[in-house]
Amino acid sequence: MSAPPLIYAPAPCPRCGAATAALAETLCRPSQDETGEYDCPGGEPDNQGRLLQPTPESIAALDHWIDTDPTVQREIAAHDAWAVAENARLSLATPSPTPAAGGDNG
Ligand SMILES: [Zn+2]
Repeated sequence: MSAPPLIYAPAPCPRCGAATAALAETLCRPSQDETGEYDCPGGEPDNQGRLLQPTPESIAALDHWIDTDPTVQREIAAHDAWAVAENARLSLATPSPTPAAGGDNG
């Protein structure tokens, strides 16, 4: 089973409250970072310039699918196992600091 699609509906940006892409440029743009990038969580507008948000129902359906789909659960478990093995490998590869021979305890 593949992921349920997110369903988008016109809704204002949750951060700046802009309902259209044109408004988002004036409302979200002031919060742009020094690279000039601005990121409006309002996302892509539709063909009428209205910002679209995924509906709460479709987000909940996707979350439920992630929590329950056996294929997703296997992939998460496999990734976790890989991460544990990779951490073990990296910690073995890192030369442990050897204490100086002798020791001068004054
Ligand atoms: Zn915004």
